[in-house]
Amino acid sequence: MPETISIEKLRTDIRGRVIGPDDAGYDEARTPFYGGIDRRPAVIVRVANDADVVRVIALARETGLELAVRSGGHSIPGHSVSEGGIVLDLGDMRAIDIDAEGKTAWSETGVTAVEFANVANGHGLALGFGDTGSVGIGGITLGGGVGYLARKHGLTIDDLMAADLVTADGEVRRVDADNGPDLFWAIRGGGGNFGVATRFRYRLHELPTVVGGMLLLPATAETIAGFVAQAEAAPEAFSAIANIMKAPPMPFVPEEAHGKPAIMALVCFAGDAEEGERALAPFRALADPLADMVRAIPYPEIYPPEEEGYRPTATAHNMFVEAIGASEAETILEHVQSSTAMMGVAQLRVLGGALARVPNDATAYAHRDRKIMVNIAALYERAEEADKHMPWLRGFVDAMRQGDDAAYVNFLADEGDERIRAAYPGTTWDRLREIKARYDPTNMFRLNQNIPPATTSTA
Ligand SMILES: Cc1cc2nc3c(=O)[nH]c(=O)nc-3n(C[C@H](O)[C@H](O)[C@H](O)COP(=O)(O)OP(=O)(O)OC[C@H]3O[C@@H](n4cnc5c(N)ncnc54)[C@H](O)[C@@H]3O)c2cc1C
Repeated sequence: MPETISIEKLRTDIRGRVIGPDDAGYDEARTPFYGGIDRRPAVIVRVANDADVVRVIALARETGLELAVRSGGHSIPGHSVSEGGIVLDLGDMRAIDIDAEGKTAWSETGVTAVEFANVANGHGLALGFGDTGSVGIGGITLGGGVGYLARKHGLTIDDLMAADLVTADGEVRRVDADNGPDLFWAIRGGGGNFGVATRFRYRLHELPTVVGGMLLLPATAETIAGFVAQAEAAPEAFSAIANIMKAPPMPFVPEEAHGKPAIMALVCFAGDAEEGERALAPFRALADPLADMVRAIPYPEIYPPEEEGYRPTATAHNMFVEAIGASEAETILEHVQSSTAMMGVAQLRVLGGALARVPNDATAYAHRDRKIMVNIAALYERAEEADKHMPWLRGFVDAMRQGDDAAYVNFLADEGDERIRAAYPGTTWDRLREIKARYDPTNMFRLNQNIPPATTSTA
């Protein structure tokens, strides 16, 4: 039977902020990014330093209460908030220390991707995270990090040089390729299963500006297949996240295109402006763009401004495919058009390049050789609508499937053990379970895409 927590006592032990159900700010502090998640933790601790993290882990051990770990709060299944348990929130740990000459940074894990980008940009440097500025560097890094620089520089974890990790036994460990190499391997893709990361050391790249922004094209089978073919042929400095959806009635979209299928592509060329324009030309030639906002911008502007308080509700599926030709493009068009959700979307990311040059077994992100990542999603206004859009989602996924059901862990919802297993193919799974058994044998870090400890450890 879990013990209860004395909030007053905890306050005397913790340097950071302790927020209980009766405190002002509790509702705000327990609310994650995604809508439709309404959990009431027993306490939220906004830790200030490693000692606080050690104390909160001890508290979880002493009480047996479920422990949620939160960095940016963007977990798709809401894993960073617990019903009745403890939330360890790193959001007040936000120091960033850049070594401009050595092109590296130490960053505490409470910062978001755009906050990090802005600080690094002050030195003309950059690091790839994902497509959304408000995502926390904690969750995205531990799962892999697939973003605009993946083809040129690899995943976020390919630039991870070291981490400070507090493990379930309360030890604060600095892990890197030489110290705790097994843990360092596991946290590069294995998510929050192995401890609380308080600090990351990253390698940075000189990249003050990029050519980037939104290119909106009409979607036909030809333009979709053509877009993918061009993205595959493009230089590695170019990457695109292409959303095939009905064009929204936004001011920058011509009225006659509203509600018609469109390719809303967010593109980024990580290099010289002239070369960027050249790389963009074949995409602009696919059709007369409905809107073209691609231009030379400071790197942090790849993150569009976000609406304060926006809490989307969605049903989604992540998958990889080998090819998108004319028939797959037709399938995408048909399903996007038949969606009855507020938005039905297929998001395509052509991979390859630097991320694919790292061997599959070098980190716990083991789908390096996959060609294209596809996220299919229905976004809607009320959480109760979820079931209504499920048949559409299933039908779309089945029609797109090419081979197995491999997945990227950071885009998984609450989809069951088999799908977690799909993120960690072959021996990756066994090795992760073995390392989990060594560092978290009681599965304290279980509110995540959980990797259960191996039952027979060789430790
Ligand atoms: C709008 C949106 C866009 C996205 N775009 C991309 C994208 O382009 N590319 C991509 O790769 N991913 C993307 N993602 C997925 C994103 O990487 C994951 O949702 C990620 O887990 C979010 O990290 P967070 O710190 O914000 O989340 P949180 O909810 O705070 O954390 C998620 C989980 O990560 C673990 N965790 C977080 N911080 C720590 C820590 N410091 N120590 C230990 N464990 C921790 C915990 O298990 C936690 O439950 C996107 C998600 C959203 C919502």
